Amino acid sequence: MALKYKKIKGTRDILPAESEVREQLWQKARKILMRYGYGFITTPTFEATELFVRSVGEATDIVEKEMYTFTDRGGRSLTLRPEGTAGVVRAYLENHMIPPVKLAYYENVFRAERPQKGRLREFWQIGVEFIGAGDPLADAETIELGLTLLKEFGFKELKLELNSIGTVEDRQRYRNVLIEYLEKRKDELCGDCQRRLYRNPLRVLDCKIDGPKLKDAPNIMDYLSEYSRRHFDTVLEYLELWGIDYEINNRLVRGLDYYTHTVFEFKTAGLGAQNTVLAGGRYDGLVEELGGPPTPAVGFALGVERVILALNLDAQPPKPEYFVVTHGDEARKFAVELIRQLRAEGISADMSHNPKSMKAQMKLANRIGSRYTIIIGEDELSSQKVKVRDMESGEEKLLSVGELLKLG
Ligand code: ATP
Ligand code: MG
Repeated sequence: MALKYKKIKGTRDILPAESEVREQLWQKARKILMRYGYGFITTPTFEATELFVRSVGEATDIVEKEMYTFTDRGGRSLTLRPEGTAGVVRAYLENHMIPPVKLAYYENVFRAERPQKGRLREFWQIGVEFIGAGDPLADAETIELGLTLLKEFGFKELKLELNSIGTVEDRQRYRNVLIEYLEKRKDELCGDCQRRLYRNPLRVLDCKIDGPKLKDAPNIMDYLSEYSRRHFDTVLEYLELWGIDYEINNRLVRGLDYYTHTVFEFKTAGLGAQNTVLAGGRYDGLVEELGGPPTPAVGFALGVERVILALNLDAQPPKPEYFVVTHGDEARKFAVELIRQLRAEGISADMSHNPKSMKAQMKLANRIGSRYTIIIGEDELSSQKVKVRDMESGEEKLLSVGELLKLG
């Protein structure tokens, strides 16, 4: 059979087994997030395009080429959210939330990227935004929270890379020196980086092709103000205090424009080029950029599909505890009522909804894989007891409905 419709490249169907994996991840995350004082937020899937252009930064990969933007029937330009932070900060302002506030989310995001392993066009992020805390302790706690989540998911080997990109002023100074350096090597740069040179020169250092060639590039650390240095050093002191290993990577810049000071990533083996599972940083300029008062903030997002891929996570989809097999019309009526009662008691139970032979029903019971099969035939009806078979041990018991319901 030729399929008439197929999913769009870069999107995925999340089937029952993986749905279970994801639910488990999110339940683990929720528990930990609550321990750190987070509340949960869900923002709209689409927003005014302008929100992302302003907040993500015009010169970023996301805004330049990765956004799903469309015009709605009213002629407005809308965009499917390419990341979570912009919507959360908009919601923070629009709902007059009072800082400090900790907001966490689990939501799908959309980017028109070239699909490959670990790189999708619709994917899910678990993210946190800590709005209204400027102290280096907030950066350190956010990093530590990220590590705690990833460890809880099952990661053993992780590399934490971090960097400081200072304040907007620090970065302006560094930018000028960097552009001067890059201009001299313009001909050696890849096409993407030649375009980025003036618009987003810091990204050039992070480029997979050009980055390694630019070994003698100026180092951002040398251009940080005293204040920025101290902020960064204090973050590092907390990490050391808590025994968290890190590696300073002065080329780490993040794809987005709104970051300031600390930027960080957790990397893992086994994902090939897409080895970052969690990325975040401080973004002291964003709230103001979106029309609020100057408000510091820090956060991260982790890619749920990359976590599942890296850890090779798998789970059993849910199965009903009982599957009822019947012989004859009377038994079938009896089964319908029994199942209704079981479900009302909070016990999962099911049966074949297409009247079929006992053999066919048993086959279905086996495929569904319920823990017990309940068999109801003429004998069972006349004795008012049903036969309950444990599908693992093969053991059978005759029970009245009352006994069965009590059993749970
Ligand atoms: P990359 O350098 O891989 O493009 P990014 O800097 O664009 O990542 P962020 O915007 O910081 O990534 O997103 C946070 C996390 O979301 C990433 O660390 C990654 O785990 C995940 N992620 C990003 N892009 C994708 C994608 N296209 N498909 C699946 N997961 C993704
Ligand atoms: Mg990207």
